[in-house]
Amino acid sequence: MAKENVDVLIIGAGPAGTMTAAKLIQAGLTVKIVERSHFPRYVIGESLLPQSMQHLEDAGFMDALVARNYQKKIGANFKQDDFQEFFDFSKNYTDGWTWTWQVPRDDFDNVLAEEVQKMGAPIEFGTSVVDANMDLEEPIIKVVNEAGDVQEIQAKFVVDSSGYGRVLANLLDLNEPSSAPTRATLFAQFKPADGIETGAENNKVTILVHEEDVWVWLIPFSDGRVSVGFVGNPEYLESAQGDAKARFLTYLARDQHASAMLDGMALCMEPKEIKGYSKGIKQLFGKNFVLTGNASEFIDPVFSAGVMFAIESGARAADLIVTQLNGEEADWQQDYEAHMLKGIAVMRTYIEGWYDGRLRRLFFSDNKPEKIKSQITSVLAGYVWDETNPFVNRSEKTLNLLSELHNNPEMA
Ligand SMILES: Cc1cc2nc3c(=O)[nH]c(=O)nc-3n(C[C@H](O)[C@H](O)[C@H](O)COP(=O)(O)OP(=O)(O)OC[C@H]3O[C@@H](n4cnc5c(N)ncnc54)[C@H](O)[C@@H]3O)c2cc1C
Repeated sequence: MAKENVDVLIIGAGPAGTMTAAKLIQAGLTVKIVERSHFPRYVIGESLLPQSMQHLEDAGFMDALVARNYQKKIGANFKQDDFQEFFDFSKNYTDGWTWTWQVPRDDFDNVLAEEVQKMGAPIEFGTSVVDANMDLEEPIIKVVNEAGDVQEIQAKFVVDSSGYGRVLANLLDLNEPSSAPTRATLFAQFKPADGIETGAENNKVTILVHEEDVWVWLIPFSDGRVSVGFVGNPEYLESAQGDAKARFLTYLARDQHASAMLDGMALCMEPKEIKGYSKGIKQLFGKNFVLTGNASEFIDPVFSAGVMFAIESGARAADLIVTQLNGEEADWQQDYEAHMLKGIAVMRTYIEGWYDGRLRRLFFSDNKPEKIKSQITSVLAGYVWDETNPFVNRSEKTLNLLSELHNNPEMA
């Protein structure tokens, strides 16, 4: 059996994997990525957050991404019945990038993959990791390509960026039930109908409250397509008659705002569904491996934070791998796991507040002080590690307090 040696083996070429690879190459390490599918490949998660932009620039991806002319995302729009609130990233409380993109992920991930290959990280497409011996000082990973050829790759360090594949979590029994209840999603894409030249009139990302515990995303792309998904209570999403397409169209017809935004457009991707997308994890690293992006923990897409966490974790992990492979002390517990869990905890507070209504009441309340709005915007832009923001360092307390004040204005 063929055997290859490399400094770092990365499983999966999504944004977590390519971010890690770019930074490791910059540090002079040898890297190989194995990727199960062939790119460009479809994956969900098209609305990015500004917090990722600095990492994308530092890793050397920016010129190639700018050339793709993606739809610029300057904020996020939330709607419920007649209420609407736009959170404008240019009014961020935190210093940093104030815009990002809405991207078809097949294209975005493909750009990152092409760029890391040019930088010197080969990607073996159509190749799956099927086993791993992590007990060795230098782990051996078994991979199989589509022809059935088996190969072993020995690495000093392994990065699991396999997303929903959850390779090491499955092989090392690291999965844990998620703290979030089981939710489901039903999603598709639309394009302008024949004869109509542009897509949705409004090119902003919009989140609509559809039912008490179901919401809809609309993410317009620069080519006129719009990604649309219903998310939430699985009982509701299974309650209409028929297959995924029939149910999707039923819910769409019930949603006056979504129907209006898609007026003149036609389905261009068959509706798909996923049930139980939230994942928990027991630990984020071991002595010779780390889990990044969705291969670790994923809660909920309502605030579009998945790619942000994937990129942040990839960048952080790369820095610590470089330290460790240079023979220095890498504090994975503090500088990786605690850091990632801190950001995830802030997002979790927001997500829970969204579903239980506290955050929605705040979003749609009139006369929010500008400072509070800019602090909320900062979290929505992905700045979940800015300890000077009360919505970060005391997120639960701040949310409860403001929600109380909103319910009992005489307390103010
Ligand atoms: C309904 C829904 C909507 C979402 N919307 C958003 C959004 O708007 N914005 C956002 O930021 N995030 C969103 N997300 C989250 C987003 O999808 C993920 O967080 C993001 O794709 C994670 O990136 P990643 O690099 O960790 O993994 P991925 O992008 O999933 O990449 C992992 C790669 O690993 C490969 N792989 C898997 N198994 C193996 C194996 N055995 N061997 C080799 N390769 C393997 C896969 O083929 C894949 O290419 C959403 C998620 C859901 C469920």
